[in-house]
Amino acid sequence: MTLSLIPHAPKTEGARAFLQGGAKKILIDGEWIATAATFETTDPATGAPLATLARAGAAEAEAAVAAAQAALSRPDWARMLPMARGALLWKIADAIEAHADELAELESLDQGKTFATARFGEIPGAIAQFRYYAGYASKILGTAITPSIGYAPAGKQVMAYTRREPIGVVAAITPWNSPLLMAAMKLAPALCAGCTVVLKPAEETSLTAIRLCELMLEAGLPAGVVNLLTGFGAEVGDALARHPGVAKVAFTGSTEVGRILLGSARGNLKKLTLELGGKSPAIVMADADLSLAIPGVARGIFANSGQVCVAGSRVYVQRKLYEAMAEGLAREAGRLRLGHGLDPASDLGPLVSPDQAARVAAYVAGGRAAGAEVLAGGTGFAEAPAFFAPTVVAGVTPDMALMREEIFGPVTAITPFDEPEEALALANDTDYGLAASVWTESLSAAHRMAAAVRAGTVWVNCHSYFSPELPKGGMKTSGWGVENGPNGLENYLETKTVCMVV
Ligand code: ADP
Repeated sequence: MTLSLIPHAPKTEGARAFLQGGAKKILIDGEWIATAATFETTDPATGAPLATLARAGAAEAEAAVAAAQAALSRPDWARMLPMARGALLWKIADAIEAHADELAELESLDQGKTFATARFGEIPGAIAQFRYYAGYASKILGTAITPSIGYAPAGKQVMAYTRREPIGVVAAITPWNSPLLMAAMKLAPALCAGCTVVLKPAEETSLTAIRLCELMLEAGLPAGVVNLLTGFGAEVGDALARHPGVAKVAFTGSTEVGRILLGSARGNLKKLTLELGGKSPAIVMADADLSLAIPGVARGIFANSGQVCVAGSRVYVQRKLYEAMAEGLAREAGRLRLGHGLDPASDLGPLVSPDQAARVAAYVAGGRAAGAEVLAGGTGFAEAPAFFAPTVVAGVTPDMALMREEIFGPVTAITPFDEPEEALALANDTDYGLAASVWTESLSAAHRMAAAVRAGTVWVNCHSYFSPELPKGGMKTSGWGVENGPNGLENYLETKTVCMVV
C-alpha cells in the first residue's frame, strides 16, 4: 500500500465554475437564499477549503416545510399528469448524465472518493434511480373492491375503490458516504409518488445535492417541490424530524441517529424509513472460487475506503481456504494505491475527514491491544490525517468492538470456521442485519446459507451489487423498511379507501 498525495484540481468547466461561484445558498420555493450563519466544507485529502455553505436552522426548516406543503397542492405539481411526472424524472436523469463528469469531480473533492468510484459507480446509480421510477409514475394503481358485508337500504349496492395518494412532505436526510446516490434514492421515488421534499444532505458532503437541485430546476421541476437545506444534523435535521408539517422522514445514516429519530418523529407519528448501520459478513465456503472471492471480498470492504453501509467487515472462511484467503486479502489490501480522489493513479481516496480516520484508528488500536493480529495495513498517516491504510486483522474474537461495531472504514476481520452451521452462528451473532455475501460454487450451499443469514440482502459470489430494481433494507437494528423497487415506492404512498352506496 502506498500513499502519494498529489492534489488535483477539477478539469470540468462546470465544477470549476460551481466552486468559484461564491457562497452556496439554500433552496426554498424555487429561490436560492443566503443564511446569516455559514460553515465551510473542505477537501478531506488536503484539508483545503472548497466552499462556504449556508447553515440552515429551525427558521429555515419552517420556511422550507411551508414551501413544500404549499407545493403539494399547487396545480403545477398536484395535477401534473403521471406520464408528465415520469418524463420530468427522465429529464432529471438526462441532466445528471449530461453533467456526470462535473458531478463526479465535485463528489470526489467533497467526499474524498476516487473520481472513478463516483463517475462509474454512484452517478450511474443515481441516474438509474430516476429512470427506474420515471416508468413507475404512470403505473401507480388503486383497486376496485366489492365488499361482502351488506348495507341497508335494500336494493342499493356497496362499491369501493382505493386511491394511492402521495404521503405528503418528505424530509430526506442523507449521509456522507455516497451523497448524490443517497439523495437520488429518496428523491426519485418521492417525486414519482407526487410527494414534495425537503432535502437535508450531510454537513460534510453537501455540494452535489446543491448542484443536483440546480439541475432539477433547469429540468423543469416546479418551485417548492424540492427544497434544500444545508446545515447540521442536530440543528436543521432535528428541526425537520420534529416538524408537524413533515409526514415522513426518509433517513440513511447511523443506527444511533436512527434511534434519535424515533423520538423526534413521535409528535405527529411521522412515517419513518431508516437505512442504518451494518456489520456485514462475507462467508467463504471451502469450494469457493478464490479467483472471484479474493478480489470480490476485497472490493466488498475496501471500496469507498470501507465507508459503505453494507461493507463486508467480517470475513469468515472455511478452514481449508483460510490461509489462501487471508494471504490473498492482505495482498489485495497491500497493492491499493492511496491518493487524492481526482488523481487517476489512486485506487482509494481519504476517509471523509481526519476525525473519521481517527475513529477507525482507535478501533484497530483497541483490537491490537486485545490481542488481534494485523495482517495488512493498520496505520494512518501523520502527513495526511484523513487517510487510513486498507487493513486486514486476524484473531478478532466475537466480543471485541472490532467485531461488533460498525467501523465505517477500510478494516475487516478474518476468522476461520469448520462447519457451515458455525459460520451461520458467527454471521448472525450481531445486532445488525443489513447484508451478507456467500462465496461458493455449490448451488445448494448458496441457497441454504442465503436463507439462513438474517440480513436484508444476501449476495452470492459478489458483494455490494446494487440496482434500483432490488429492494434494499435492513433487518434487526439495520433499519426499518426498504428502498428501491416497488417496495421502495410504497413508502411514499398512502392508501385511501373510497366506499359508497349507490
Ligand atoms: P454518518 O454516520 O453517516 O455520519 P449520521 O447518522 O451521523 O451518519 O448522519 C446522517 C445524516 O443525519 C446527516 O445528514 C446528519 O446531519 C443527520 N443527522 C444527524 N443527527 C441528526 C438528528 N439528531 N436529527 C436529524 N438528523 C440528524
